[in-house]
Amino acid sequence: MYSYYNENTILYFNGEYLKASEAKMDLYGQSLHYGYAVFEGLRAYKTESGEVKIFKVEEHFDRFRRSCELIHIPYKWTNKELVDACYKVLELNGLEEAYIRPLVFCPPNMTLKAAEEAHVMICAWEWGAYLGEKLLRVKTSSYQRPNPKAFKIESKSAGLYVNSILASQEAKAEGYDEALLLDINGNVAEGPGANLFFEKDGTIYTPAPGNILPGITRATVIEICAELGIPLVEKFFTIEELKQAEAVFYCGTAAEIVGWDSLDGQQFSKPFAQSLGKTIQQAYKAKVLEKEFKREAQVA
Ligand code: PMP
Repeated sequence: MYSYYNENTILYFNGEYLKASEAKMDLYGQSLHYGYAVFEGLRAYKTESGEVKIFKVEEHFDRFRRSCELIHIPYKWTNKELVDACYKVLELNGLEEAYIRPLVFCPPNMTLKAAEEAHVMICAWEWGAYLGEKLLRVKTSSYQRPNPKAFKIESKSAGLYVNSILASQEAKAEGYDEALLLDINGNVAEGPGANLFFEKDGTIYTPAPGNILPGITRATVIEICAELGIPLVEKFFTIEELKQAEAVFYCGTAAEIVGWDSLDGQQFSKPFAQSLGKTIQQAYKAKVLEKEFKREAQVA
């Protein structure tokens, strides 16, 4: 089992810095019993100047607040105090390149009433690319993404992730690396913890918002396409259309940008190394490290 902390690890909890091994949570909490909690996932990078910077930190904390508001968990923190806490946690643990996990959770309550109070914690650990560096063999899941009429799917809520666990575990049990989930209408939605893009005839496509978590990495990829003059289209599309793609990739804070080898055993026509996704992957890496990116030098 991966060890996320040791006896020296410090985390942030409700305004204090505590040893992770000594911090306590109530077993009668509404979050533990009903999945009524919100989390974020951020990455810190040691940038070219040597300074440690958390990528898109304001965007993540804006989403953290919105996620709580959408499901009526009281949110009483400013971005500044939580951003400062993230940097402090990195410093106290001597971390430079790290994954940062803020979590808001609710106090003891066995009813289904909205929370009146909430706690916040922030921890961090070293974590390599979540889906690895290899091209992914992806399987269309038998699970759909949750119905947007049954949940606030744009809220990064803990409870939603049981769907992600089921899909990911099903794909792995069948020998694949990761799952792809469709939406309630049978269109392509996203991965259990990542958004999807594909390339066809010089254009990049991605599922339109509505049935997905609109990721911050997804927004960054859209930004990169605009900067590099790569045409980009957001639309709904089927799995059959995706199977005609030349190349496909997943993106997310934890996974960063990772190309696909195949979908349901069928490979794509363009090697990922020669695809627009590869250029976007390199541009993303340059962006998080605050390095200049020159496309000409990168084209294979
Ligand atoms: N979709 C889902 C379901 C996710 O869990 C994530 C990871 N937060 C993403 C997409 C990607 O979001 P982001 O780029 O903001 O990390």
